[in-house]
Amino acid sequence: MARKLHKRGVMKFNKHLENITTYEAGKPIELVVREFGINPKDIVKLASNENPHGCSPKVREAVGNILSKMSLYPDDSMVKLKDALSRKYEVTNDNLVIGSGSDQVIEFAIHAKASSSSKILINSVTFAMYEIYAKHIGAEIIRTASVPHDLEEFYKLYLEQKPSMIFLCTPNNPTGDAIDAKELYQFLRKIDSDTLVVVDCAYMEYAIGKDESKKVEPKDLIAEFDNVLYLGTFSKAYGLGGMRVGYGIANPKIIKELYKLRPPFNITTLSLEAATVALSDEEFVQMCIADNIKEMKRYEEFAKAQKIDIIESYTNFVTLRLNNNQNSTEISNSLLQKGMIVRNLSSYNMNAIRVTIGTTEQNSRFFELLAQII
Ligand SMILES: *Cc1c(COP(=O)(O)O)cnc(C)c1O
Repeated sequence: MARKLHKRGVMKFNKHLENITTYEAGKPIELVVREFGINPKDIVKLASNENPHGCSPKVREAVGNILSKMSLYPDDSMVKLKDALSRKYEVTNDNLVIGSGSDQVIEFAIHAKASSSSKILINSVTFAMYEIYAKHIGAEIIRTASVPHDLEEFYKLYLEQKPSMIFLCTPNNPTGDAIDAKELYQFLRKIDSDTLVVVDCAYMEYAIGKDESKKVEPKDLIAEFDNVLYLGTFSKAYGLGGMRVGYGIANPKIIKELYKLRPPFNITTLSLEAATVALSDEEFVQMCIADNIKEMKRYEEFAKAQKIDIIESYTNFVTLRLNNNQNSTEISNSLLQKGMIVRNLSSYNMNAIRVTIGTTEQNSRFFELLAQII
């Protein structure tokens, strides 16, 4: 007998998902081509903080050489990549977990530590995924009020709210500011060992290139604190956003818990190879960082000439705080129609746009178009 179909009524989903707005990724070039009929070669995407120089040529060659391995499952121990990361950061392999982007490590961390009765403390304006993963499990998000990280305010809220997790993003996305490393350590010394503090350093390579006082090293963090998780990624300075590789570094006890949430084979063979080889070409990364600093100066000069406020940045992007008579939604739409994709920050309650620092030509094009519009 056929099962009776319930044709009436609507499907109900997990109630934790009700208030989640889907993550707004930088508009892909393909969509702009379709929506505005612009020739792909006239489109410049400065919206996702990708490395405009791509990745090291050694990576491209190495990945090309292992295409025949696609039919085999990846090495799930990830030992080559872990060895390379351990050497770079002077830690051991049991301090490491690899994620499909550091995004996935954020997900592991929240699922491992928090629950629907937990509070998670984050900065007023910061990486959107902390809140999205927190909502998956129904945890409550507590935000500071100040835009740059204010660790005194974090500490006050920590005492008042007793969060089970704290996220610090340094340098911060989408504002570009960074926490002074000494202040960070002083703050961490005041936090109890049952509060997991995640220090998201997706742009740390750029910060170190600009100002050593912002340098946070995972080996120092884990030597002193057993409740801190450091996050890094290959998506930004290493130019491998499309390969989806990030990592967490922490005390082995934390890593062991995160591993319980990791799906098997979460990193593909090609991605493991790309990340491992990327670490062997530091020269390439240093070239990208030096170029970024040089191009950032041009943004600072442009902003000054246009009388737009720019937040001092330690990353590969700049955040331009527009004036009251300029609307970030209108301006980013006008730029889009001309083939220039930037990130509108109106959804963060800021009248600002975030622009990834591109190649010299891409940046010149941005200056030209924005000057025309405003
Ligand atoms: C880009 C980014 C990440 C993670 O990127 P993945 O591509 O998932 O590694 C994490 N945190 C911040 C602040 C970022 O900007």
